[in-house]
Amino acid sequence: MTVHQKPVDRRILDLKDPSLLVSQAYVAGEWISAPDGKTIAVTDPFDGALLAEVPDLGPEVVRRAIDKAYEVQKEWAARIAKERSQILKRWYDLIIANADDLALILTTEQGKPLAEAKGEVLSNAAYIEWFAEEAKRIYGDIIPPARGDQRIVVLKQPVGVCAAITPWNFPNGMITRKAGPALAAGCTMVLKPAAQTPLSAFALAVLAERAGVPKGAFSVVTGDAAPIGKEFCHNPKIAKITFTGSTNVGRWLMKEAGDSIKRLSLELGGNAPFIVFDDADLDAAIEGAMMSKFRNAGQTCVCANRIYVQDTVADAFVEKLTVKVQGLKLGRGTDAGVTQGPLIDDRAVTKMEEHVADALAKGGKLVVGGKRSGLGGTFFEPTVITGVQQSMKVAKEETFAPLAPIIRFKDEAEVIAMANDTEFGLAAYFYARDMSRVWRVAEALESGMVGVNTGLLANEMAPFGGVKQSGMGREGSKYGIEGFLEIKYVCLSGI
Ligand code: NAD
Repeated sequence: MTVHQKPVDRRILDLKDPSLLVSQAYVAGEWISAPDGKTIAVTDPFDGALLAEVPDLGPEVVRRAIDKAYEVQKEWAARIAKERSQILKRWYDLIIANADDLALILTTEQGKPLAEAKGEVLSNAAYIEWFAEEAKRIYGDIIPPARGDQRIVVLKQPVGVCAAITPWNFPNGMITRKAGPALAAGCTMVLKPAAQTPLSAFALAVLAERAGVPKGAFSVVTGDAAPIGKEFCHNPKIAKITFTGSTNVGRWLMKEAGDSIKRLSLELGGNAPFIVFDDADLDAAIEGAMMSKFRNAGQTCVCANRIYVQDTVADAFVEKLTVKVQGLKLGRGTDAGVTQGPLIDDRAVTKMEEHVADALAKGGKLVVGGKRSGLGGTFFEPTVITGVQQSMKVAKEETFAPLAPIIRFKDEAEVIAMANDTEFGLAAYFYARDMSRVWRVAEALESGMVGVNTGLLANEMAPFGGVKQSGMGREGSKYGIEGFLEIKYVCLSGI
């Protein structure tokens, strides 16, 4: 296979519905280009082919989107819940009906295998369906009063206009998880998707418009991240920012939005431990590790970053894992049988190289992989390194690439101490069969989510989110809508 060194032009995809491939931003219900004609190039990470040039919008256009979102929010919130619910359900149905096209757009701008892209589209559309239902179940409270002539009533009301910022690793799913609950709650939203993957966001907006989401209730803006982020943080019409991305950007947003005490929910980076105890079903653990570590080429916030294996089963685990890793097929996401696509960009490859070099320099042993793939571009061989220590970069930082570092441990106390020795706390996984151990370890791990005997845990029915520096707030489940609601206490007196 040849990987093109120079970007080629590939602006047409073989879509069933070509109108889903849009390169204009969706601002206040209009599809627009930047007033000054400035654009940002969107390329295929497989070969650098140019896919589209999308608007590079300045803060004044973003302000227009916010103004309109502010204007329509009260009208949207005033609709009865069932009506909002029906519109969201229509959006969900349209996403499902167009899942093949959405997956193709996603794979082409992001690189992941097509089957994974379709899985992302379908499993995350489910958040819109779920919150379409939850829209009808936003209940308040009536509380026994302190005086006989009073009644205490608690209302739940939408927070208002929400700004959403999403990353490139799940270009479709990270949007539906935010827009679903926000619109269900009666909020409106201005979204800034990642610069690398705006086409999935535009395609979702086309379908939102078709579903009947009112003009201006859901805008998608593209452009330089920092000025748009500043506008979101300082514009008084924005009530809440919901962000998924790196801990560094989350930290900056928190400081910046602090001036006006905006509501924030942050889904940030992770450093998930994946622990295999000696009583685990080893084959199930291998399957879970492959799913958790190598899905999306390791570019997943909840992916196993450090794999801890108990001494007595470590050799067998590494042997079996290596066989599976050698079976991964690298290539273009749209090609049949491909299980690992390219990394998103050169920066991602450089970070992986740094982590491999650091581990090997400090005594780690390379079992398989460890270098750029012969396919060129941003392909990197899936890698397994043993003899890893807590002090190495692979154990301390989020690698965000297809690298499985193996750390051996002796007992439960030691591995819990090592697993919790990080500022992150998003996901943790372990494989064990002893029930008392299962309870003890699940309770002891400092993370927002724990997968026991599974390497996959996200779904719309469960609360997704982190503790420590992995963020605050939850997406999915009955808790996922709370972040888009305010509590209002009404004291009825003189009864
Ligand atoms: P990133 O933080 O660089 O970018 C995320 C988004 O923030 C993008 O849209 C980017 O344009 C925007 N951004 C960057 N600087 C900004 C600024 N100054 N103001 C406003 N917006 C700004 O992260 P990334 O590399 O795109 O994504 C990978 C990271 O996201 C990883 O750390 C991963 O763990 C994390 N992530 C977390 C979750 C979760 O649910 N916890 C899910 C997916 C990804």
